[in-house]
Amino acid sequence: MIKQLNEKQKVLARIPSVDELLKSPEGCRWLSAFPRKVVIQAIRTALEAERVSLLAGQTADIVSEALTDSIDAWIKKLSSCSLVPLINATGIVLHTNLGRAALSEKALENIVKAGTGYSNLEYDLETGKRGKRHVHTKRLLRQITGAEDALIVNNNAAAVLLCLNTMAKGREVVVSRGELVEIGGSFRVPDVMTASSAVLREVGTTNKTHLHDYEHALHENTGLIMKVHQSNYQIKGFTSEVSIDELVMLGRKHDIPVMYDLGSGCLVDFKPYGIYTEPTVQEVIKSGVDLVSFSGDKLLGGPQGGIIVGKQKYIERIQKNPLARAVRVDKLAIAAFEATLMEYMDEECAKEAIPVLKMLFQPAEAIKKRSQKLAAALRKATEAADIRVVREMSKAGGGSLPEAEFETFAVQVRPGGISVNELEGRLRKGSPPVIARIREDALLLDARTVREQEIKDLVRRVAASLKAD
Ligand SMILES: *Cc1c(COP(=O)(O)O)cnc(C)c1O
Repeated sequence: MIKQLNEKQKVLARIPSVDELLKSPEGCRWLSAFPRKVVIQAIRTALEAERVSLLAGQTADIVSEALTDSIDAWIKKLSSCSLVPLINATGIVLHTNLGRAALSEKALENIVKAGTGYSNLEYDLETGKRGKRHVHTKRLLRQITGAEDALIVNNNAAAVLLCLNTMAKGREVVVSRGELVEIGGSFRVPDVMTASSAVLREVGTTNKTHLHDYEHALHENTGLIMKVHQSNYQIKGFTSEVSIDELVMLGRKHDIPVMYDLGSGCLVDFKPYGIYTEPTVQEVIKSGVDLVSFSGDKLLGGPQGGIIVGKQKYIERIQKNPLARAVRVDKLAIAAFEATLMEYMDEECAKEAIPVLKMLFQPAEAIKKRSQKLAAALRKATEAADIRVVREMSKAGGGSLPEAEFETFAVQVRPGGISVNELEGRLRKGSPPVIARIREDALLLDARTVREQEIKDLVRRVAASLKAD
């Protein structure tokens, strides 16, 4: 026992010091290519791992090549970004965990322009005086939605919070029990209400709420009537909800403003594609509603942002709220929004140029072709799996269009040498990472969300990952 311990201590004592390693030929090579801080951190981390492994008896001695490899790997890790692009082979277009909407070419170009140098973000070029950042998107939003005024903040959660705090601080907000939604990541209507200092007044039941339920709840301390779009779920069966038109009429009768949290906020009509549950912002504005809020990076296909459109007098009040500053939108998002909204001036072009719309509306035949191309390239690159094209159904994702299913095509990869879980893990951990879903003993690569220019990388990653060790 004591002898063993002494042996271990002897080996531990042979672990080189950070200084020795820095002075070695490898150390000079590392220092010439990477920042000193990165190299030192990598050496320390690798040495610590070596120590732990020696103590645990997992390794018997120090192998200098192994140590060098480990330091190399740590340097690579520490000097590369943590946020990386990846290949989304899930078929889910608005995948919240994978960054929701991919941006259009023009939006990306505009981000680079606005971020590279200075801009007239809050500067009026006509008068030479201080301007407002909202002017850049206001005209387009008014034109597209038909609303009197518009404002963009950081995200839709912030938009709802800001509207509630402005319109109903210390007052009641009437909401149907069927609309007390939770959107992933802790956005819950009752909690947002509390955070905004408004008081939630629930009316009706989970499945049925009538106009008289709303009407009975109104009194002198009612600040707002709010409708919330059931973005990510549907209540089916014996149900009824009150339409926004009816609520607007009720609000007018009692002189109480009405707001609609629309969630996704789509600007093109989905009905021709068989989707009837998603009202457009334009339709909702026509009802005469006072305020509408929606996300910028869901079906609209822009950057993260919360858009508020509606009556000018309310938007002006919202802008003056000190909270508006705390949730203001940044210049890169404004640049992306302006370019994205510009695409909507021609709806047909928007469906081509905005990746979210393009991916959702692409004909199944086009997806089939792309999956056949992917399958053929995969068969050429590897023999370690059974590869075939299968017809599937996919969802929009991102808390939108919960009922809608889109016909899609996927490449089904059934590995021969390794398990499907092993394959999924290797694909996820490599570079670029590939995210795919498993069904039974096969991996599905849904071609809906795989872009043409990603096929080459995808084939390389799958072929390499299929190799048995
Ligand atoms: C998605 C959603 C939100 C939150 O929007 P973010 O832009 O993600 O902050 C709020 N309300 C509804 C109804 C939603 O669908």
